[in-house]
Amino acid sequence: MKMSDQVEKNDGITRRGFLAGVAGLTATAVVAGIPNIVQAVTPFTLPELPYADDALEPVISARTISFHYGKHHKAYIDNLNKLVADTDLASMPLEKIIAMTVGKPDKTAIFNNAAQSWNHTFYWKSIKPRGGGEPPDALKKTIETSFGSMDAFRKELVNAAVSQFGSGWAWLVKDQGKIMVMKTGNADTPIAQGKKPLLTIDVWEHAYYLDYQNRRGDYVNAVIDKIINWDFALENFEKA
Ligand code: MN
Repeated sequence: MKMSDQVEKNDGITRRGFLAGVAGLTATAVVAGIPNIVQAVTPFTLPELPYADDALEPVISARTISFHYGKHHKAYIDNLNKLVADTDLASMPLEKIIAMTVGKPDKTAIFNNAAQSWNHTFYWKSIKPRGGGEPPDALKKTIETSFGSMDAFRKELVNAAVSQFGSGWAWLVKDQGKIMVMKTGNADTPIAQGKKPLLTIDVWEHAYYLDYQNRRGDYVNAVIDKIINWDFALENFEKA
């Protein structure tokens, strides 16, 4: 075990102990059809990464994870806590905060940090060590029905990820019974539009630049081939 793993682990135990001691504030928010994300009511805490920081190598390096999870994701949560402190939003689940602030010009900073907090937790679950390959049959059949073939689906997903101008996200979503590929810019998230995400790929430069520099397409193809978490997508598909 590397020193950094040990620190992560100790940190996790300390956080859990602290929360349990304070008031058992950790709760699981369930919004119809949206995957459960364990979160504190307030303050929000950085959810534990579902794997070691080097577990996605060589597709995503431990160095990228250390910045992406340890700095970027953490900063969105820290900023959100500061922004909602002492407001009515402080007592709301993350999904509710997103719904209450989307499209409101005076709430843009809160929306951005809330949506980025949600999107990142969802992204960490959308990828896993030794992922990739073929989707489970139930999902594969629906993808083939929706897109014509797995190849056509893959082209559309890669195209959404690569063609998103600037920062954003590529998504597989369920909407009105159909599976669709979509992309969102910056912090925007399908849950703000009533769509049910099945999986996502983060295409902000901070997700790939240390490992791939400007080659976003290489990052996206490696994610799909090697680490995409089809089991998570199926779980969300069955719930949606
Ligand atoms: Mn990111």
